[in-house]
Amino acid sequence: MTRPAFPIPLRLVLLLAFAGCGSSGDGVIALEGATLIDGSGGAPVKDALVLVRKGHIEAVARVNEIPVPRGAQVVSLIGKTIIPGLIDAHAHVERWAVERYVAWGVTTVRDLGASGTDSSLALKRDLDLGSVRGPRMFTSGAMIDGAPPTYATATAVRTSSEVRKAVDQRAVAGADYVKIYTKFTADLLKPLLDEASTLRLPVAAHLGKIDALTAARAGVASLEHMAGVVQAASRDPGVYARAHDQFLRGWTTEEMGWATLDSASLARTARALAATHVAIVPTLIVHEMLSRLDNPTLLSRPGMEDVPAGATSVRDVAGLLRRTGWRASELQAFRRSRARQNQFVREFKRAGGLIAAGSDAANQLLVPGLSLHEELSQLVAAGFTPIEAVTAATRKAAELLRADSLGRVAKGSVADLVVLDANPAADIAATRRIAWVMLRGQIFHPDSLRRTWGH
Ligand SMILES: [Zn+2]
Repeated sequence: MTRPAFPIPLRLVLLLAFAGCGSSGDGVIALEGATLIDGSGGAPVKDALVLVRKGHIEAVARVNEIPVPRGAQVVSLIGKTIIPGLIDAHAHVERWAVERYVAWGVTTVRDLGASGTDSSLALKRDLDLGSVRGPRMFTSGAMIDGAPPTYATATAVRTSSEVRKAVDQRAVAGADYVKIYTKFTADLLKPLLDEASTLRLPVAAHLGKIDALTAARAGVASLEHMAGVVQAASRDPGVYARAHDQFLRGWTTEEMGWATLDSASLARTARALAATHVAIVPTLIVHEMLSRLDNPTLLSRPGMEDVPAGATSVRDVAGLLRRTGWRASELQAFRRSRARQNQFVREFKRAGGLIAAGSDAANQLLVPGLSLHEELSQLVAAGFTPIEAVTAATRKAAELLRADSLGRVAKGSVADLVVLDANPAADIAATRRIAWVMLRGQIFHPDSLRRTWGH
């Protein structure tokens, strides 16, 4: 028996399938003609065509390579550049700030626990439900700290069972990962990581009393602010561990400690850390801003108008200087440390380490949204190419969040993207020239958002 002839029935089936769904462009947005930086780290692609349907990216191609479905809303973007929606990989998200993030092209925030009383978990829920307009939010919930905790909102832990319970509470409450803070001690790492891995929660660490290598080898997923690196590279880590009995003294000592490190120990530490596969969110911009707190022009730089007068977290520079007692000599030492921090970031990247871009907004002088763009400029100043910097705020940050559908403009990704008036591959400052932002397939214009919150 010969095989039955099937070409005609098959064609009929395909035709019916197309008539049923595929050919309709209803609700499709076709973005046509832009240069595309897709987040993968590859070179920009000219004359791109991006099809968006129901909040997702349905196809990415070159113009004329695939048909635009009939009835689609076609948006010509000739002369523009598309990048994925930006991810701020280290933020302390305050409620007033959420629309500011969107206006600056930040469509996802990785929250590391509020120091104030507002619940990050409640804010995340409001954003998920759409009752508050803003970026998609991942959060650690309240921090886990040693005793006494730096912030009253943190959970202080002294024993293994207290650690396990604190991790458990966060899993139950819906946290996406847990965050440990500077007074957390090395003897509690094992129960912490044991409980967290059972509950599949990554551990983010702002270290103080533990050195970065010990934490990374124990299985911590990310090092925030590069904290603990000085301890790991120093010949006398005890000095730092003791200073961290008190938060601000610890920060000050560690920040000044960078300048004392030599190139060889920095490079060795960077390679050893990269080998553990720990991710690093260097937040160079917070190191930079703290080193320049005595520069009064920063409080009135462009972008500060997005910060409400009452937002003391960003605006209260005088209060921070009073609390820390930092004078010109300390700030100068911080500035000397910046070169070493940049060198460490370069070495870690060269060793294959994952670096994600984060801002630490809304801390002093760090405008939610804008400060992520400032971080990208800092990364480029430290030796990243502009494309690598964009990747650190898109795909790499998505990898850190373990969120495959974010951080890329690719088939199947969520439709979070930013349309720019200039191409950041040539000049990273172009990421600030935002024409409009797409979040979950919906278009937002920064100017309209700014009109809604007023000044
Ligand atoms: Zn932080």
